[in-house]
Amino acid sequence: MSARPASRPHFGFDNSYARELPGSYVAWQPAKAPAPRLLFLNAALAAELGLDGDALRGDEGAAVFAGNRLPADAEPIAQAYAGHQFGGFSPQLGDGRALLLGELVDRTGRRRDIAFKGSGRTPFSRGGDGKAAVGPMLREALVSEGMHALGIPTTRALAVVATGETVYRETPLPGAVLTRVAASHLRVGTFQFFAARGQYDALRRLADYSIRRHDPALAEDPDRYLGLLRALAGRQASLIAQWMNIGFIHGVMNTDNMAISGETIDYGPCAFLEAYDPDTVFSSIDHHGRYAFGNQPAIARWNLARFAETLLPLMADPEDDAAIRQAAERATEAIGEFPGLYDAALLRGQRIKLGLFAASATDDAADTTLVADWLAVLHSQSADFTLAWRRLADAAEGREAALRSLFTDPGALDSWLARWRERCAGDEARGGPGATERAMRMRRANPWIIPRNHRVEEALAAASDADDLAPFERLLEALRNPFDESPEYAAYAEPAPAALTAGYRTFCGT
Ligand code: AMP
Ligand code: MG
Repeated sequence: MSARPASRPHFGFDNSYARELPGSYVAWQPAKAPAPRLLFLNAALAAELGLDGDALRGDEGAAVFAGNRLPADAEPIAQAYAGHQFGGFSPQLGDGRALLLGELVDRTGRRRDIAFKGSGRTPFSRGGDGKAAVGPMLREALVSEGMHALGIPTTRALAVVATGETVYRETPLPGAVLTRVAASHLRVGTFQFFAARGQYDALRRLADYSIRRHDPALAEDPDRYLGLLRALAGRQASLIAQWMNIGFIHGVMNTDNMAISGETIDYGPCAFLEAYDPDTVFSSIDHHGRYAFGNQPAIARWNLARFAETLLPLMADPEDDAAIRQAAERATEAIGEFPGLYDAALLRGQRIKLGLFAASATDDAADTTLVADWLAVLHSQSADFTLAWRRLADAAEGREAALRSLFTDPGALDSWLARWRERCAGDEARGGPGATERAMRMRRANPWIIPRNHRVEEALAAASDADDLAPFERLLEALRNPFDESPEYAAYAEPAPAALTAGYRTFCGT
């Protein structure tokens, strides 16, 4: 091992992106924080990454995760990317307030990116200050860790540091830096950056790099770019289906916020459904409901089409019109498979949520109607999405009172429950579990606790306005075991008052 200053940690970085993709980033240093203070350190994740969590506590951790004392082997870079934002194309976005410190191979052999968010201006900052505020960074930590505990692919939060600096938004706010861990930061927008410039050699290097990193089985495949499109379609179908089954609204599904890894990335104006309504939009800037809850699958497909366009010049000679047309047809066909992949993933998840487990073939159309009718009942009576699913597990054991209490007119619920019971009986006849086991398995798919918007806001306000981290820590604790009911955390399972949800607005880029 080489000698290094004792005061600087060594993360064991191995920076394949910087090494293999010159021209796709700018080497850059984080801004210095005047008075860094560690607000959050994810000890379990640090251990998973093979980092010395104890050494990263207190002032040392604050200095490291503020960017004041970088790991000795960090090679910070700002990555270039483009993207469609609300449907309009921006040829150059890039890391305007983020830096990739490097990649490391974790204890299970997975390569993970370690990146800062809020670490100051870069050549990609355009008009922005490059900074982030305590509230939104703790919000990303809470929601991404909550999503992880729910079993949904997501980037993770390793640390949040208050910088001691004031950032100016609508009001002055305490500044912060988040350290994010991701399977990679390759986005649809990364491909768009090179495709839009006609830099096809760089684009090919990027695509081959992406394949080595996320789809290594395709590496030697002569048809690997179509394979890459198919692989992303599959990952996104599965991811969006999981969002839809948990009531997650990303809020800003721009192409630069769609990760090639299939992880949920970029927690800005995201929020969770309370009362079920597919038209729900919380983002203050989403005036036309482009990223409404129910639009998410269609937007994913639209983003995939933008991704496919970037791959065409790799699939065929861009000078050969006929060959490009043929490639476009094959890509269109692959994108056309997305709705089927999505529907299948959705129904797979919904069957488990409904308590249907028998392996033998069942009627997809009938089950799709059964779920659609359940959701229609929730919609018509503005029932809380999370609690309704959760309490259906109680109903599987014959305890219906808690479920019924969510409905103003239980009549529609009753006729649906009768059909569902019949379907459960059929499931049991085909080898599915009995009532107790069914309810238990349903409780593993239908969370009791999600990061409810009013609880998240309450935690952030205490941290940001009053320097009180206790509500944040307690909520994070509650979110760690979302499927277990414990009286201690009962308050976190309760919906927000309807009036509060009706006026709830989330903000982007803050
Ligand atoms: P986002 O909405 O967070 O996905 O960011 C979209 C683009 O805006 C990315 O290129 C970001 O780097 C950039 N951006 C967002 N906030 C800031 C900021 N405060 N300063 C500079 N760039 C920013
Ligand atoms: Mg983004």
